Amino acid sequence: MIDLQNVTLTYPDGENRITAVDDVTLHGGNGAVTGITGPSGSGKSSILAVAAALIHPDSGGVLIGDGADQVDAAQLSRDEATALRRERIGMVFQQSNLLPALSAREQLQVMARLGGGGGRAFRAGIDDRVEGLLDAVGLAGHADKRPHQLSGGQRQRVAIARGLVREPEVLLVDEPTSALDQERGAEIMDLIARLTHERRTATLLVTHDLSHRQALDELVTVVDGKASTPA
Ligand code: ADP
Ligand code: MG
Repeated sequence: MIDLQNVTLTYPDGENRITAVDDVTLHGGNGAVTGITGPSGSGKSSILAVAAALIHPDSGGVLIGDGADQVDAAQLSRDEATALRRERIGMVFQQSNLLPALSAREQLQVMARLGGGGGRAFRAGIDDRVEGLLDAVGLAGHADKRPHQLSGGQRQRVAIARGLVREPEVLLVDEPTSALDQERGAEIMDLIARLTHERRTATLLVTHDLSHRQALDELVTVVDGKASTPA
C-alpha cells in the first residue's frame, strides 16, 4: 500500500515559492487502482513525483509497503530512494519511454536485471517472468519487435509490463492514455485495472479523462494542490 500523509510540496518561483501539493492525504490500497484527477497544473504529476521518492516533500509522510517492510519515502537518502524505486515501485508515463534499439522482450529483461546479481536460477526466473508478462499484456506474438514496429497502444503495453517486471508493491501511472484514441485508451485502462487486481499492486493512476472511470476503484480529485474525495 501507499499512504501520503499531509504532504506539502513547494517549488521555487522567482523570489517566492509556489505550492504545488497542499497538505494532501491519500491512500492507495493493495490491489486497487486509485485514480487522481483534476485540471492541468493542479499538482497531479507532483503528487506522483513525491510518491516515487523522486522529490522530497517540504513536509508530510509517504508510507510505502506493509508491516515491518514499511518505509517513509520522504525520509530516505538519495541512494535509499533510488533503491526503493528500483525494487518496490513501478512507473508508467504518458509517453512509453522505451529504448529505441531494444525489442519488447529486451526492454523487460534490461529492467529486470537492473542492479545486477543472481545466478542461473535467478536468470531463468527472470526469463519466465518476462514471457509471462508479455503474454499478460497481449504481446506474446510481438516480443521481438522494436518500438518503431509497434503501435502506440502496444508500446504502452510494453511500458506497463516493464513497470511490473520487478514485481513492485506500488505502481505509479501518469496519464497513460493521453497519446491514444478512445478505444485504445479504454483497453489500456482495463489492462492496468486487471493487472493491479491480479498482482495486488497499490496503483496510483493520474488521468484528466474520466471517461475511463470504470477502471478506477477509488477516485481523488485535486484542485490547486488540494485533494478531495467525492462523497
Ligand atoms: P499536473 O500534473 O496536474 O498538470 P503538475 O504537478 O505538473 O500538475 O504542476 C503543479 C504546479 O507546479 C503547476 O503550477 C506547475 O507549473 C508547477 N510545477 C511543476 N513542476 C515544477 C517544477 N519542476 N518547478 C517549478 N514549478 C513546477
Ligand atoms: Mg501532469
